[in-house]
Amino acid sequence: MSNAHSSSAHLLPEDASPEGATPEAIGASPTDAPERTALSTSALSTSAPGTKARRPLLSPHHPLADVGTTIFAEMGALATAHGAINLGQGAPDADGPIEMIEAAAAALRSGPNQYAPATGIPELRQAIAHHQRHYYDLEVDPDAGVLVTVGCTEGIAASVLGICAPGDEVIVLEPSYDSYGAVAALAGARLVPVTLRPPKWRLDGDALEAAVTDRTRALLINSPHNPTGRVLDDEERNAIAKVAIDADLVVITDEVYEHLCFDGHRHVPLATMPGMFERTITLSSAGKTFALTGWKVGWASGPPELIKAVRRTQQFLTYTSPGALQRGVVAGLAMGEAPIDAVRAGLDQQRGLLLDVLAGVGFDVTPPEAGYFITADASWTGVADGRDFCLRLPEAVGVGAIPLGAFYVDPDRGGAMVRFAFCKQPDQIAEAGRRLSALTQGPLRSSS
Ligand code: PMP
Ligand code: GLN
Repeated sequence: MSNAHSSSAHLLPEDASPEGATPEAIGASPTDAPERTALSTSALSTSAPGTKARRPLLSPHHPLADVGTTIFAEMGALATAHGAINLGQGAPDADGPIEMIEAAAAALRSGPNQYAPATGIPELRQAIAHHQRHYYDLEVDPDAGVLVTVGCTEGIAASVLGICAPGDEVIVLEPSYDSYGAVAALAGARLVPVTLRPPKWRLDGDALEAAVTDRTRALLINSPHNPTGRVLDDEERNAIAKVAIDADLVVITDEVYEHLCFDGHRHVPLATMPGMFERTITLSSAGKTFALTGWKVGWASGPPELIKAVRRTQQFLTYTSPGALQRGVVAGLAMGEAPIDAVRAGLDQQRGLLLDVLAGVGFDVTPPEAGYFITADASWTGVADGRDFCLRLPEAVGVGAIPLGAFYVDPDRGGAMVRFAFCKQPDQIAEAGRRLSALTQGPLRSSS
């Protein structure tokens, strides 16, 4: 599974007998119990001093047993603790359209503040269908072909859990977003990475084909891609479509950065390709498109048969998402292209600023084609491991970042690569630049 593994903390060794486990038996000690072991030794045994050891409350065989907090929460907490500028988590520091916020606030005030329909309010499903037609010429049925989810995160979970059975394999482009590995594990499925390599991060069609086995159920494809900023081109999309059609696979596409393409790059949904609509679940969310990541309003669209499979899982995860925020998104989508273009234009400017800052400090950077992030090799600073770099950076210079290792099944494959978010105000990026320039003095060299 994916970066889930960057967590070092195993609650119990693989072969530990649950019956006899005690904190001593599993080697837990206060010194190796930082936040990531927060599931805590006290939860491991129900035994009181002097009584017989009991079974652990938490199963050592749980698919997420060795997972702590996500890399975004971990590095975010570190940034906060050191008063650092957090270029880690991809969260804008300025909110999106005020009209959307006012529409959501008005909906809260007027009510009803009760459960929204399970598949999403009809106005939002219609607006999503309209969005797919307007931007991509895709016809989706607003009733049977659209499902509103709690962010794209729930869309990913409901899709993987709704499509995969235990023993199935899910192919992802690695580095891959952290929730993919976690939900595949929850489904009992195996994550099979097809690795993209810097600096071009292109998909090798032969490698994709070679990754398919008779257990492969789905391709989970993220484009525009986090963390590399790649937008799949025609050749890569054709390779994916060929493999999916030849092997009869479901394709789940994570398109949360669909509107954030720069330098003339264009996002083309895989669902628009011949033979693909009927096998593709297209996921997106309002968070990135409107710079309202905290709203967590997302959606799945596609053929009714597949959306039904997503829905049968989603109805037991959350059932529905907050109606007032759905109304806010309806207001945003009703405003046409202007607010979406404005978000992209602002980000494009911020991308330029952070590229200049990083290059000025000494990082070798390539402009990302899309998204929120710039990736760079940090080894010139004297640190060979990206996680080590990101753990020390907040205290050493007052900036937060994310190690790319967190996006790999084997974190070591991330090497010294790190990710910086540019969805921040220009003054914050400038200040981050001033702080990062201290890296040229070699503060990280000594003890790495
Ligand atoms: N997929 C990718 C690739 C992401 O970067 C993110 C973070 N926004 C998500 C999914 C989660 O989206 P949401 O916040 O809408 O749940
Ligand atoms: N998508 C955001 C990122 O990649 C993180 C969202 C989260 O914290 N789970 O930075």
